[in-house]
Amino acid sequence: LPPPTTVTVTGAAGAIGYALVFRIASGQLLGPDVPVRLRLLEVPAALEAAAGTALELADCAFRLLADVDVTDDPNVAFDGAGVALLVGAKPRSAGMERGDLLEANGGIFGPQGRAINDCAADDVRVLVVGNPANTNALIAAAHAPDIPAQRFTALTRLDQNRAIAQVAEHLSVPVTAIDGITIWGNHSATQFPDLAHATVQVDGARRPALDLVDRAWYVDEFIPRVAKRGAEIIRVRGASSAASAANAALDHVFDWVHGTGGEWTSAAVVSDGSYGVPEGLISSFPVRSNGGDWEIVQGLDVDDFARQRIAASVAELEEERAAVGTLGLL
Ligand code: NDP
Repeated sequence: LPPPTTVTVTGAAGAIGYALVFRIASGQLLGPDVPVRLRLLEVPAALEAAAGTALELADCAFRLLADVDVTDDPNVAFDGAGVALLVGAKPRSAGMERGDLLEANGGIFGPQGRAINDCAADDVRVLVVGNPANTNALIAAAHAPDIPAQRFTALTRLDQNRAIAQVAEHLSVPVTAIDGITIWGNHSATQFPDLAHATVQVDGARRPALDLVDRAWYVDEFIPRVAKRGAEIIRVRGASSAASAANAALDHVFDWVHGTGGEWTSAAVVSDGSYGVPEGLISSFPVRSNGGDWEIVQGLDVDDFARQRIAASVAELEEERAAVGTLGLL
């Protein structure tokens, strides 16, 4: 077996972290032949809980788990990290203004970005899950000048997976029949789940998804359902989605490392100006990986409807960037 890859998980004692670390240790992040060293970062108040998780990890006797460290020091947590999963974030509490939320998260993601810059492996891959994920990733990247911004990404794979599941259920086809869905923009209710390029395998033929569904279903049911699925889960389950968010984080990193083949998926990556998204914003795009960096899929036709939806979500990202810029967090 190769030497272990260090995987850092922040907020490891939280709900998503608990759903994530056992699957990482079992090989579902980097593959069945790659040993991992887990470094779990937590705030001081949650260190005991994270230490308890580490005991349970030991009790699994995972063949691939070389070591587990629990710490509240970002410089220790990110030391040698090949993959950094930034899950811990400041949740929005009742009555909190957005500026307060962004500022609180700036206090977390700025120092973490700096620690990644100083301590992580040169080819570190960073995935931000903690909300507001896109802008938290932007803050972290801004504090890591020695690491290419392409290495900082945010999670929209859960939105992508939700979109696939909705289409599959609506058309009574397996999820594997569906290809070419894109999530654009922010991981928020303004996101745009786009079916314009999606195809569905039915009766041996590949057909455009939009030929198979009503426009009204697409615009009035599918788009808001995917964008607000998080709230639906909270309403029905009585708690935020955790296992599905962890699962999407594994999908994101696995595909980034192993490549996507011919298909594309969605991830929030730094914009190079593609599709009119201002350069430097961390926005969701259709992306492919060849095992190196994510590449934005080029040349897709974007009609007026899509253009407006993308613009609305990108406007929100620009507002967030301006707000954290004003707060001196970039
Ligand atoms: P969760 O593990 O449920 O969620 C963690 C973060 O993921 C939240 O910001 C949450 O956003 C976000 N998230 C992104 N996508 C989703 C999704 N689809 N569904 C649900 N959540 C999503 O939170 P917990 O409160 O259980 O745990 C957070 C942990 O982080 C705590 O243990 C805390 O101590 C720790 N923490 C660690 C820090 C550090 O390591 N320095 C800093 C801050 C916190 P949203 O709030 O919008 O749901």
